[in-house]
Amino acid sequence: MINTMPTMHEPARAIPIIAEADVCVLGGSCTGVFAAVRAARAGRSVVLVEKTNRFGGVATNGLVCIWHNDLDDRYEQQIIAGLSLEVVARLQRRDAVTVRERNPDTRYILNTEELTIELDELVREAGVVPYLHTVFCRAIRDDGGRIEAVLVENKDGRGAIRAKVFIDATGDGDLAKECAVPFSVRADLQPPTTCAKIVGLEGVDMRKFYNQHRSEYGLPEDAGWSCSIPGVGAVRLHAETHCFGANVADARQLTAAEMEGRQHIRGMMDMARRFLPERRAQLCLLALAGSIGTRETRRFQAEHRLTEDEVLHGVRFPDAIANGTYRVDIHYPKGGGHLFKYLDGRQVSTTHHGQEWSRWRPESTDNPLFYQIPYRTMVRRDCPNLIMAGRMIDADPGAFGAIRVMITMNQTGEAAGVAAALAVDGTDTWQIDPLALRARLAAGGSIVL
Ligand SMILES: Cc1cc2nc3c(=O)[nH]c(=O)nc-3n(C[C@H](O)[C@H](O)[C@H](O)COP(=O)(O)OP(=O)(O)OC[C@H]3O[C@@H](n4cnc5c(N)ncnc54)[C@H](O)[C@@H]3O)c2cc1C
Repeated sequence: MINTMPTMHEPARAIPIIAEADVCVLGGSCTGVFAAVRAARAGRSVVLVEKTNRFGGVATNGLVCIWHNDLDDRYEQQIIAGLSLEVVARLQRRDAVTVRERNPDTRYILNTEELTIELDELVREAGVVPYLHTVFCRAIRDDGGRIEAVLVENKDGRGAIRAKVFIDATGDGDLAKECAVPFSVRADLQPPTTCAKIVGLEGVDMRKFYNQHRSEYGLPEDAGWSCSIPGVGAVRLHAETHCFGANVADARQLTAAEMEGRQHIRGMMDMARRFLPERRAQLCLLALAGSIGTRETRRFQAEHRLTEDEVLHGVRFPDAIANGTYRVDIHYPKGGGHLFKYLDGRQVSTTHHGQEWSRWRPESTDNPLFYQIPYRTMVRRDCPNLIMAGRMIDADPGAFGAIRVMITMNQTGEAAGVAAALAVDGTDTWQIDPLALRARLAAGGSIVL
């Protein structure tokens, strides 16, 4: 779309250089934090920039508390470790995680408030220089496409951060967009959701309840999910609705979606008060997500686009930096619900009408037990000191549906951090030797297969 907005000129001015480091990471979800920590543990100086008040991204600000599965599809082989399991172990010491055996959907349920503090500790211990409440806005690049500095804004005003290697872990790819990396935004994006912690709705079939009464509250047909929170039986995390049609990488649409998502929660609470009067005494809206939970926005082009076929057939890559088993999970662009496609050939479509099971391929005894993500999905040869990590990496819609979950994205962060540490000597990020990268990842606790 052509931008027809009127423009004006900002007068040129000198910008203070507020930090210089080997590696600068933009976006402080677990992806970004893990990238920063791995680069720092490799002996590099690291700056980490996050626009909200806390690290963790969707896991903390979005309240989403489930890390799916670190085992293969038969629950036999460990395929994921690294910082994800280090954090799980740290949370276990605080009774802040529930571990479920043989459960591919919800193996780890985390207390996201404890996770917030744990991520602070991790950043502090690694010696990473953190900037919270600081938003990335512009990149300064040389003629060869190398990023010299990024401009950020915070309470002090505008400042520059210089580094040798930059990692974009902003989810929406704000730095990659600034660097003119080609991207697309699909018409049928997986819609975002505002999550809430609510007391008093345990045991209610929310899908049925919501759709029975929603029209009286002007709310759309929908189907979502909820889960318990470790240690507090009465509180559940509710992700019941979607803001359909919203591209939340657009400022106006993001604003509208934030307000619409909260309106959904208000509607659910009003319904519950009216139609579940016996629960009224204990009913309580305990917490609202600090940011709407974003599933999908811009899709960037890298050296390789991971395909649904590669994921569902468990294709192995010589430059694999992450493993996963989470099914293809595509939330419908309207009407609620989702389509799941499993590695064993089953698929299920869930809507508020119920579930419909079928197969995306015939039964076989030769099902892949996990899939992989190659490093090439994170780099481009025309951006020699940029690494992309997290949900912005290059994948087609089906592959994206599978890999977008946190226990998988966390690994892309770790790989970005280790690759950045290697690229500090001036090697282009797309030319990092995959053997060296994989060896360093394994030496730092990641499982490399
Ligand atoms: C409602 C919902 C439910 C989900 N359920 C699950 C689930 O149960 N389990 C699971 O594993 N996954 C789940 N997912 C998917 C998963 O949460 C996301 O795909 C994953 O968090 C993406 O990680 P990320 O690091 O790429 O991005 P994000 O978590 O979105 O993090 C991006 C970070 O960058 C920061 N940032 C953005 N722009 C800037 C900027 N310009 N300057 C500075 N900082 C910036 C953000 O504040 C944020 O901290 C769910 C997603 C949603 C929305």
